[in-house]
Amino acid sequence: MNFAWNEDQLALHEHALSFARDLDFSKISAGEFPMEAWQSLGEFGYYGLPVDSRYSPCGSGFDILTTVKILEGLGQGCADTGILFAGAAHTFACVMPIYEHGSETLKHELLPALTSGEKIAANAISEAEAGSDIGKLTTKATREGDYYIINGAKSYVTNGSVADYFVLYATTNPKFGYLGQTAFVVPADLPGIEVGKSYKKLGLDSAQLNQVFFDEVKVHKDYVLGSEGQGARIFAASMDWERCCLFALFIGVMQNDLERCIEFANTRKQGDKTISKFQAVSHRIADMEVRLQSARLLLYFAAWQKSQDVDNTKAVASSKLAISEAFVQSGIDAIRIHGAAGYLQESGIDSSIRDALGSVLFSGTSDIQRELICNRLGLL
Ligand SMILES: Cc1cc2nc3c(=O)[nH]c(=O)nc-3n(C[C@H](O)[C@H](O)[C@H](O)COP(=O)(O)OP(=O)(O)OC[C@H]3O[C@@H](n4cnc5c(N)ncnc54)[C@H](O)[C@@H]3O)c2cc1C
Repeated sequence: MNFAWNEDQLALHEHALSFARDLDFSKISAGEFPMEAWQSLGEFGYYGLPVDSRYSPCGSGFDILTTVKILEGLGQGCADTGILFAGAAHTFACVMPIYEHGSETLKHELLPALTSGEKIAANAISEAEAGSDIGKLTTKATREGDYYIINGAKSYVTNGSVADYFVLYATTNPKFGYLGQTAFVVPADLPGIEVGKSYKKLGLDSAQLNQVFFDEVKVHKDYVLGSEGQGARIFAASMDWERCCLFALFIGVMQNDLERCIEFANTRKQGDKTISKFQAVSHRIADMEVRLQSARLLLYFAAWQKSQDVDNTKAVASSKLAISEAFVQSGIDAIRIHGAAGYLQESGIDSSIRDALGSVLFSGTSDIQRELICNRLGLL
């Protein structure tokens, strides 16, 4: 077993890290979508990392492990995890389903502008009564000639207010449960679409989260991803991407927090000793390191399995669960180590715990990851 990254992967990681460190958020007010940073990330190539260059000049066609390594660098270097989260929701829950399940025409039509970041996409599946269990979506799509008429409301849509397209899941045949759902690309400027106000959230401030309403929205059949009835399968595949790649960002954030904690512990003095000499502090940092490295190795294993032709459900769920729970625990530890200084917004260390609490909810809650693991262990 070889754990070494090759020279290209290491260089790409370094490039991502230094690019992300240079992004400037000083002129952005709280809760604002940083459009300039979004565009810079597009120029960097964020939104096309795994997409073949056949479909877009911004597609790099990287394998998933290389993609993960680049995302770690972005997460480690970027002062605003919210914009990276918005970019990951766009790339892994929208660009990838279009890339993997869209028709050739649709891919050539949409992917150039989506991978450059000129256009923004948002994934719309969750509803007021369908969060963890998406078996009964009340949003309906009814076929009329060459069109589908879409009616319904989606409750938590990342990028909702800035979206040019929605990757939307709707019920086309209520009798068939999961097999009666279909995935659509819905242009956001179609008549009948209304976007609610951006929610005020606990963390990931700059990512916009909205309700979106669809009232008699007429979508051409060519905008179906895969075929009618394949929606649940397409969504599951997009969650595999999201659970690996989006969560690689948080490995980077935890790495940054760990390095800051080590530096702080080695310089902050109480009495005549640095606090690193107190076992309570140094052991807490050792625990952060072990938690981070275990989650990171689970991620690399999940990403490797995803690149193989094997069932990766348990590996991907384990990795998502380990990363998000480690992120919460390490977010708390980082504040404890910094004392009151860590509780101040100006420290920047406070944002990790706020961002981390969202990570145990989206892309399937921790409980749902445990259910997936139990299922593969033969317990359910
Ligand atoms: C920051 C953020 C961004 C998001 N972005 C998007 C987006 O872009 N697009 C989108 O469609 N959605 C998005 N969501 C919604 C997210 O996917 C849902 O919040 C998530 O699936 C959970 O659904 P829910 O909130 O309705 O909670 P519920 O499903 O009602 O769950 C409530 C509690 O019950 C537990 N629970 C529920 N069912 C089970 C079960 N079967 N077994 C064990 N425990 C269970 C849950 O773990 C949780 O603790 C986002 C959410 C957040 C917080």
